[in-house]
Amino acid sequence: MSKMQAPRGCPDVFPNDVEKRLYIIEMARKISSRYGFQEHETPIFEHSFVFEKNLGEGSDIVSKEMYSFTDKGGESFTLRPEATASVARLFISHKLFRELPYKVFYQGPMFRHERPQMGRQRQFTQIGVENLGIKDTKIDAETIELGWQLLKELGISNESQVLINCLGTDQDRETYKKQLVQYLSKHTSELSEDSQKRLTTNPLRILDSKSDQDKEILKSSPSLLKFINSESLKEFDKIQALLSSMNVPFKVEPQLVRGLDYYTDTVFEIVNSNLGAQSTVLAGGRYDNLIEGMGGPKCPSIGWASGIERLCLLVDYKPLKKIKIGIVDMDHSNDEYLMKSNQIIRSKFETYWSPTGNFSKQMKKCENQGCQHVIIFGENEINKKTVLIKDLSKGEQVEVKFDDVANYLFN
Ligand code: ATP
Ligand code: MG
Repeated sequence: MSKMQAPRGCPDVFPNDVEKRLYIIEMARKISSRYGFQEHETPIFEHSFVFEKNLGEGSDIVSKEMYSFTDKGGESFTLRPEATASVARLFISHKLFRELPYKVFYQGPMFRHERPQMGRQRQFTQIGVENLGIKDTKIDAETIELGWQLLKELGISNESQVLINCLGTDQDRETYKKQLVQYLSKHTSELSEDSQKRLTTNPLRILDSKSDQDKEILKSSPSLLKFINSESLKEFDKIQALLSSMNVPFKVEPQLVRGLDYYTDTVFEIVNSNLGAQSTVLAGGRYDNLIEGMGGPKCPSIGWASGIERLCLLVDYKPLKKIKIGIVDMDHSNDEYLMKSNQIIRSKFETYWSPTGNFSKQMKKCENQGCQHVIIFGENEINKKTVLIKDLSKGEQVEVKFDDVANYLFN
């Protein structure tokens, strides 16, 4: 492959898409701030152990997707594959445990060495929230509802659905895992290659398999919900009641597990039927032990993240129509005057200007760039301190004093 291409799975982004992405980020920023979340930024890379230790060795991310490197000082760093561990690290580094909940919104690029396909990239951008420090069913409901509200305000909730599940405690899952492995071991040879490997590394992840054959086998597997402790189940019921009271439509999905080890109790995803194979637009869950496990105090927390590339595939965004003014230098007679005038025009308008070419070439370029009006500087006009303004849609042209240009164009 040519070296003059962006790395695989890291697409270049052009202006129209940049505008759409910013619109989505701005919407998420605005809504989460209404819910009391404040934007934070963490570095794009962290010490590798921040992710290695906390995401789980058997997770896809740690076992095969991380971009890790040793820097010139001999330390191992990793481009962040997700931001929850980074935010937990920030929370501990700055000892933010005093006023809880501590609510973080973030946005920015993440990096995972995955097989690129529609809605799956190696560099992608997530928006996300972390609601840190409190174990309360109302916090779970608030966090999930915020995700739903975002999709609603982006106009894509109609074909979306919230799926929720309860993973219980580490202990519940240990007991369940044994039962699951016992059941699946009877079908080892029929399982997909990936799932056969996961049987020893991360058996719960098999529940998430996309293979039809695996799904068939899983139909008669023991159900996780049967192994969940009664306290967690009670809370799970309460969260469902709260979601209903806020008119968030949801479905309990007993097979829903998430890819990372740090999740406990509540997990959820929002899926959209227009996305094909990569149907999850937003995903998250509760992580009650992560911060303590990283050396902080006991700090039960919950959060979610959403990939803006997948949101972009769904959101119907019409860019605002802007007034764009072309500048044409007819006689190339007075560069100093032109540059000074351009400065003034550009303080008020979005402009297009190409300094080379004859009159008709410059006019053509302005037209191609979607300019509605063109300001023409000719030698005669410069001497009179006037310009010609041409309306490209009507083909009409008038002579206007340079000082009156803004007034004329705004009217
Ligand atoms: P998937 O099962 O699709 O791989 P995941 O469980 O790895 O998702 P999370 O780590 O929970 O996903 O990330 C949350 C969201 O971030 C996803 O729902 C998706 O919108 C987005 N996302 C994750 N990985 C990618 C990627 N490689 N490219 C684009 N978006 C992504
Ligand atoms: Mg993934």
